[in-house]
Amino acid sequence: DLALRRAAELIREVPDFPEPGVLFRDISPMLADGAGLRAVVEALGRDCEFDVVAGVEARGFLVGAAVAQSYGTGVIGLRKPGKLPVVADRVSYTLEYGQATLELPADTLRAGQRVLIVDDVLATGGTLGAACRLVRQAGAEVAAAAVVLELTALEGRDKIMGEEVRALLQA
Ligand code: 5GP
Repeated sequence: DLALRRAAELIREVPDFPEPGVLFRDISPMLADGAGLRAVVEALGRDCEFDVVAGVEARGFLVGAAVAQSYGTGVIGLRKPGKLPVVADRVSYTLEYGQATLELPADTLRAGQRVLIVDDVLATGGTLGAACRLVRQAGAEVAAAAVVLELTALEGRDKIMGEEVRALLQA
């Protein structure tokens, strides 16, 4: 897909962020480009049956909301702790150093809904795996877990067993 290849060229690689030794992929320039954003949004939702989008804080909010609007669904933000006034459910997961939590806002996701989970980057898979658990615990179904970029060497996909993982780009 030519538009996606062009978009991929707008991803900036930043060495030693957020800590030494990590090569961070910054998708901000890609999202700031109209053609780049459109290519990514269309590809994330293509050929997928879903009733609602769940975007992971924070870059998953940007992309997820655009996908939802483009495909005519609503959007739910899966949030880091302490942001939501009323929490329906939460899932905690381990990171390389420490722990993280994702929370589902109350009165959003309904049992039986097919959810397209969206985030920018799949790294170790902890975040996307937790998002999948949160959706399933609500009695909803993961239509697909979709990211713009998958860092394949980290094998994060293996943490998301049993769900369709969709990555537009791989590095
Ligand atoms: P994981 O839980 O898969 O290790 O990390 C994925 C989460 O961390 C995603 O929410 C993603 O936004 C963020 N992340 C990890 N590495 C990168 C990276 O290189 N670039 C960007 N943009 N986000 C990253």
